Amino acid sequence: MSSNIQISKTCISCGKEFTAYTLNTRYCSHNCNRKHYKQLKREEKIQEKLRQTEKPNPPNGIPIMIDNSVHLKPFLSIMEAAQLLGTSRRTIQRLIAKGSLKIGKIGSRSIIHRNEIDKLFQ
Ligand SMILES: [Zn+2]
Repeated sequence: MSSNIQISKTCISCGKEFTAYTLNTRYCSHNCNRKHYKQLKREEKIQEKLRQTEKPNPPNGIPIMIDNSVHLKPFLSIMEAAQLLGTSRRTIQRLIAKGSLKIGKIGSRSIIHRNEIDKLFQ
């Protein structure tokens, strides 16, 4: 697998010019190859460390805006119904006031059955 080509190249490790005998030679010596490889590995490690520290800490049990289980619940609060439909609470309350959306009451809490939301689209 030897060839007769001779290419003048610059070592990507030490920056010295050297004569390469294959197209993909990038180092003037095995030593430079090894040194550069080690350097790359080190930089890789640093990059990885950086990536890890960039990661935001997971919120400690604080739900962020939308609870993904909302669409699985049979009964929803007005807030959850709003999340499910991607509307504001006011919109839900308007629908209730218009009689388009039937609600149940548990004490002072308004509970909306999932079916009632589905009915909006029938
Ligand atoms: Zn070199």
